[in-house]
Amino acid sequence: MNRYDCIIIGAGVIGALCARELSKYKLNILVLEKEIDVGCGASGANSAIVHSGYDPVPGTLKAKLNVEGNKMYEAMCKELDVQFRRIGSITVANSEEELVTLAELAKRSEANGVPYKVLDEKELKEIEPNITASAKGGLLCPTAGIVNPFELVVAAMENAMDNGVSLHLAEEVVSIKKDNGFIITTNKGEYFAKYVVNAAGVYSSKINDLVNPHTFSVRPRRGEYYVLDHFQNGYVKHTLFNVPSDKGKGVLVSPTTHDNYLVGPSSEFIEEFDSVRTNKDVLDNVRTNATRLVDNIPYREQITEFAGLRAVGDTHDFIINEADGFINAAGIESPGLTASPAIAKMVSEFIKDKEVNPQFKPSRRKVIRMEEMSIEERDALIKKDPKFGRIVCRCEAVSEGEILDCIRRNCGATTIKGVKRRCRPGMGRCQGGFCQAIVLDILAKELNKNPEDIMYANANSYIVLGPTKEGK
Ligand SMILES: Cc1cc2nc3c(=O)[nH]c(=O)nc-3n(C[C@H](O)[C@H](O)[C@H](O)COP(=O)(O)OP(=O)(O)OC[C@H]3O[C@@H](n4cnc5c(N)ncnc54)[C@H](O)[C@@H]3O)c2cc1C
Repeated sequence: MNRYDCIIIGAGVIGALCARELSKYKLNILVLEKEIDVGCGASGANSAIVHSGYDPVPGTLKAKLNVEGNKMYEAMCKELDVQFRRIGSITVANSEEELVTLAELAKRSEANGVPYKVLDEKELKEIEPNITASAKGGLLCPTAGIVNPFELVVAAMENAMDNGVSLHLAEEVVSIKKDNGFIITTNKGEYFAKYVVNAAGVYSSKINDLVNPHTFSVRPRRGEYYVLDHFQNGYVKHTLFNVPSDKGKGVLVSPTTHDNYLVGPSSEFIEEFDSVRTNKDVLDNVRTNATRLVDNIPYREQITEFAGLRAVGDTHDFIINEADGFINAAGIESPGLTASPAIAKMVSEFIKDKEVNPQFKPSRRKVIRMEEMSIEERDALIKKDPKFGRIVCRCEAVSEGEILDCIRRNCGATTIKGVKRRCRPGMGRCQGGFCQAIVLDILAKELNKNPEDIMYANANSYIVLGPTKEGK
């Protein structure tokens, strides 16, 4: 049986950043992930906002770790070469009643130590010309930002692996036995670990039940979105929020790090733990709520829809604790993405007597992003390697060279969606209609697999099943 100092269950943003944080120490670490790629849970399907912290109830872990995490983003994203922009957020009030809630949120910002400015109607409409005509005022929080969340998971895991962490994909934890440490059984084998970190997202209460039965519960609450193409730079400049309610932060309209626009999410408790389908009625309701932010959103620019599952704990706060070496980072709903670097630090502090790893490298190799290069830089790169001159994705202008790079790294892509989320072929208007077959071919050749063995996103998402004709 392989022995580890620490086994982390789940490779979302929490598992990946815990792995990276712990790789700063001389520890033998394994990450177990049931899916065939990292970031397949909530961490890859959310609003991508680095919240300022104006909203969580003061004194909660959510409030504390949100504000701490927010402050860590610049340095972390610089080290990991992850796209992040501090664009600020505005919570928009549409009625006298909502202006009262806004004043309460301003007090909450104060209590949480979050900078803010209350905007009157005129100031709001000057800053955001496309804001709804019915807007009466707003709460501007300049420290809010936007990040590429899937890239953050990949980057954190890649860097953790560069620093010696092992990652086993397609390996599901099915039982855990306490035995002077923990014996962890998966669908593939058995391991021993002194410490276990439960970072299993929506499944985190099921993992906790294996060790401490029924101490808390976590339920999935689905959020559905529209994604609009990058049709106009600065259509909205900040993340615009509805005034929050007991169902969460409400709907937002926000730019993404690639200047697409997100409209969503909805908020519905569901029974299934893996259902990320979208529904017309729910999305119609999102549209109605979004009109309270921006009039006449151009839905003809919509290129796709998606849904993510929030891990809602019954304690109404993050569940982060340790007992006898079993560490919960459970029920990490919003603002979990924001809080993730601070959560990783907190988890690391539970592991005692660890020695610093003097070889720890904080940065990963820079990502090759041709979209950010000058013509001269592109020209030089293409001269060095002509594959950077072969454009595979016409919508997002992604080259074969960039696709190969994202496959060849630690924590590299092995699926169509893995490539799409790492370097964007298929993210544009045609959603892979033109480039998917080429990406499949590149993956098969690069991974030395049959095309039939390349999956779209998860273990059974076959794309091609076999030849339809013999010969030519
Ligand atoms: C709709 C929506 C919008 C959100 N918007 C924001 C936002 O704008 N800003 C913000 O800060 N936060 C936001 N969040 C919250 C944020 O996305 C989450 O807090 C964060 O991604 C949680 O990360 P995680 O690693 O805990 O969970 P996940 O990303 O879900 O990862 C858990 C992983 O554990 C794996 N796993 C589960 N069971 C097992 C097992 N038995 N064996 C092995 N592996 C297992 C899963 O496959 C999964 O990969 C949003 C969430 C949602 C759903």
